[in-house]
Amino acid sequence: MKLILLGAPGAGKGTQAEILSKLLSIPTISTGNILRAAMKNGTPVGLKAKEYVEAGQLVPDDVIIGIIRERLAEPDCANGYILDGVPRTIPQAEAMEQLGIEVDKALSIEVEDEVIVERMGGRRTCKACGGTFHIKNNPPKKEGICDFCGGELSIRKDDAPETVKARLVTYHRETEPLKAFYEARGRLVTVENQPGIDATTAAIRKALEI
Ligand code: AMP
Repeated sequence: MKLILLGAPGAGKGTQAEILSKLLSIPTISTGNILRAAMKNGTPVGLKAKEYVEAGQLVPDDVIIGIIRERLAEPDCANGYILDGVPRTIPQAEAMEQLGIEVDKALSIEVEDEVIVERMGGRRTCKACGGTFHIKNNPPKKEGICDFCGGELSIRKDDAPETVKARLVTYHRETEPLKAFYEARGRLVTVENQPGIDATTAAIRKALEI
């Protein structure tokens, strides 16, 4: 299965990607996580990306394409992958097509903007592994500590309310047109956000027939 997850920031792509990744035994590739790791390590890509990420803007397409091309060439991607947060623009999707990167389904998780803004306020992210939690909807077993790796949880800089609003504007302008792009290719599957993570997973499994 070669799956793309579409949806606004905070729609639950990362959370559902982790669940589907275990279920299907294929890796999740999150450009957001790759960029955050690069920023933390101060690599050239990280230095280039920092100002965009922190302002809630998109990182230039060529940087993203470089990342994705390298990552998808790794052997663990041979049997499939879940792309979380990429492509995020039509030019990225076109570049991926030109590189021969295949897509079986593009799954869009639909969530209203008001729900997103409220949800992002409670999001906590692991500084070490990128795992995400929510103080109410998906709390870690121990406050402030990542269930997966024991790392410290913090609020992502770009989850600040003003930045979230900027990211939503960018989502509607740059990313939402990808729904029509994949619909035209017969690949689009749409799922409405459900109350709770498990119910959303169930709706996704039904829609994807997995
Ligand atoms: P995410 O963790 O997916 O919400 O991504 C966090 C931030 O990383 C975004 O707000 C962008 O600044 C940047 N980013 C991640 N993926 C992409 C992408 N495919 N294209 C451009 N920027 C991206």
